[in-house]
Amino acid sequence: MKVSCPESSCQAENDARAQECRRCGTPLQSYVRLLQYPAQLFNAGLLKARNGSFEQARDLFAAVVYWCPKDIEARNALALACFELHDLMEAQHQWKQVLAQSPTNVLALQGIKYIEAEHPWDDVLPGSTSSPPPSVATQMPVPRSGKKGLFHKRKSPQRRDRRG
Ligand SMILES: [Zn+2]
Repeated sequence: MKVSCPESSCQAENDARAQECRRCGTPLQSYVRLLQYPAQLFNAGLLKARNGSFEQARDLFAAVVYWCPKDIEARNALALACFELHDLMEAQHQWKQVLAQSPTNVLALQGIKYIEAEHPWDDVLPGSTSSPPPSVATQMPVPRSGKKGLFHKRKSPQRRDRRG
């Protein structure tokens, strides 16, 4: 397994077993442990969700969010698990937290819209005008490999306005 150096000016790829970054010397092992633990919880939560054990999934995602409050993906997963458990208030609360960080997050917007419309989630008929409820099966993110630093910000695509 590879891990990117946590030093934002470096980000060199290192073997996850390396004691320190080969480029800048930043100690890596405590970072790797920190990195892997929430990813393990997250993956365990996904597994539970796929098996329909949403209570356990919710608790695992809640733990990830506790560790990494800015982890939007985990918070969305937590909201979905709450949603599956018909804990709409908690789902809405979590999605609002997502939107506080990421106002255009599609899943959170859909979820809140659906909850605010107060549709019982089993009663949506095909062809209904309301947006379909987020489904755990299709919306749950893929398991994390730990290849990328969990705490690294995902790079947004760079926009360049160049004129020739
Ligand atoms: Zn480094």
